[in-house]
Amino acid sequence: MSRLRILAVMFSIVLVGTAAGSPLLCPKLPSGAQIRPENRYFDVLPRIVPADQESVIEIVPLFDHVRLREDCTYELTYAPMEAPPQKGGWAPGTKIPITAENGRGRIKMLFEGEQEHMFVIEQTCGDKRRSVIFHVYSLGPDLYALRPYKGDIHMHSHRSDGVESPPYVAGACRRAGLDFMALTDHHLYDTSIEAREAFAGLPIDLRIYPGEEVHTPDNPVHIVSFSANAGITELYRDDETTYRAEVAILMESLPPTPPHVNRFHYAACVWASARIRERGGLSMLCHPYWVTGNRYNVEEALLNYLFETEVFDALEMISGSDWESSHARDINAIQVARYQEERARGRRIAICGVSDTHWVEGSDDFGRYFTVCFAPSPDAADLIAAIKDQRSVAVEAPAGTLPRVYGPFRLVKYTMFLLREVFPQHDELCFEEGRLMIQYAAGDETAVDRLRALQGQTERLYDRYWTPVSVE
Ligand SMILES: [Zn+2]
Ligand SMILES: [Zn+2]
Repeated sequence: MSRLRILAVMFSIVLVGTAAGSPLLCPKLPSGAQIRPENRYFDVLPRIVPADQESVIEIVPLFDHVRLREDCTYELTYAPMEAPPQKGGWAPGTKIPITAENGRGRIKMLFEGEQEHMFVIEQTCGDKRRSVIFHVYSLGPDLYALRPYKGDIHMHSHRSDGVESPPYVAGACRRAGLDFMALTDHHLYDTSIEAREAFAGLPIDLRIYPGEEVHTPDNPVHIVSFSANAGITELYRDDETTYRAEVAILMESLPPTPPHVNRFHYAACVWASARIRERGGLSMLCHPYWVTGNRYNVEEALLNYLFETEVFDALEMISGSDWESSHARDINAIQVARYQEERARGRRIAICGVSDTHWVEGSDDFGRYFTVCFAPSPDAADLIAAIKDQRSVAVEAPAGTLPRVYGPFRLVKYTMFLLREVFPQHDELCFEEGRLMIQYAAGDETAVDRLRALQGQTERLYDRYWTPVSVE
């Protein structure tokens, strides 16, 4: 018996055909994402299913203009993107006729392996044929149990060298489709807290975590502290004596460093990372191949040894590059190559993608450079565990190009699906929440009731996309 069984062949579909990609139908979101017309006209539930289990997919026409035409015929073709089905009698290219009736289309089948699956529905009206494609992803149990959370943990406000105020940046983060963020102003721990306090007790779904860009004295390496429970800069801002004494002790006690490694810089990095970890935070090596003073930010010998001894919890592999430098566009290609080399050596490299934005309005990078963490929740501990456990990917979607995803192969494939089929809808919901957060930050208290009405909507979207359809 064929593995592809149509439980209820009731479709009401007018296929969108050449309408796909019309800018009129699909305005671009700040993240650069566009909702495909099919995903506006139809619900496909669920979109993510467990691998190697039978699941029911419902395809629900949402509007009158996508109802089935009685003078046309409809056929369904199933196509897994990778391995063809092994366990059933389903033959590639088999077309199943769909009967014209009002209601929902239901497809029950075994989704073999971890991969993307396509359902092509062809409409034939006389000699005219058009088709529409729906997409579903099947996941192994470990990844199926997690949800994707989008975040940016390196950016600046006007408290250091950025442009906008902390609450403004936070609202803009939600408007751009982020689930979590941290402001990391230079030498300042308080500004992300300021953003969080501005929305304290309000019904918002953006998680605002502490952050700081740490620059320890006489050490050129930039370090992000994410979600630490206290600042690092305050340990040496007014008095460097303790810092210098502790780094001196490290220089005495650490094993011999390779030639050309500046031992003070290395010891200062070890010191900073240890202080961040003591405070429950994640330490991240920032933009190692940023060009400053006509050279890369981190000397190669030091960088080699930082990787070798795993001083930092994570690497900022993708950096926003809104900088006016001829080298600005080189940075990510070099950082990605470095990551790949380290992985080829067998090292476990935890990664993030960030915007390092200094202004959100008019930025080409803000909202387009981010990290996706696959975690059980957007709680800081779960996000940090996901990054350290290599359950994160770095995304760059520069204006005018398609998004690129970097990280473990399995996660990259899955994230490319999410960027097409899930994140655009997620980002559109976030847009209004972020707009209202900015409105509230501007003093409009009426935004609170409207935020309350929206609270939980992205979580509900994910619930619908991941929850199995029950079979009566
Ligand atoms: Zn920096
Ligand atoms: Zn920065």
